[in-house]
Amino acid sequence: MANIANKFSENVPGQFYVDNQCIDCDLCRQCAPTIFKRQFAGGMGHSYVHRQPLTPREKMVALDTMRACPVEAIGCTTPVEQTDEYHDSLGSIGLFNAVAVA
Ligand code: SF4
Repeated sequence: MANIANKFSENVPGQFYVDNQCIDCDLCRQCAPTIFKRQFAGGMGHSYVHRQPLTPREKMVALDTMRACPVEAIGCTTPVEQTDEYHDSLGSIGLFNAVAVA
């Protein structure tokens, strides 16, 4: 589970962030390139949130990406269960499930 106390300084202020558990696997940057970018320095890389999602669709993608992170390095300051996007997604097949069944 991501810990806001350990979030990278590059994250822009807002609901979503990446913390120092990131293993630089690239998944979030592939899934949501408008939200996540890579910081590379000193031979090490990691992702960070460079733009917070604005639209309901972008928030849904950010939530799906957060759930897909293999090390739970993506955090959300609003509990996911309390977001409108989460409740809306329960009635749908979701972004990644849609890819899996395509
Ligand atoms: S999906 Fe998770 S581990 Fe992979 S680059 Fe993004 S934040 Fe890091």
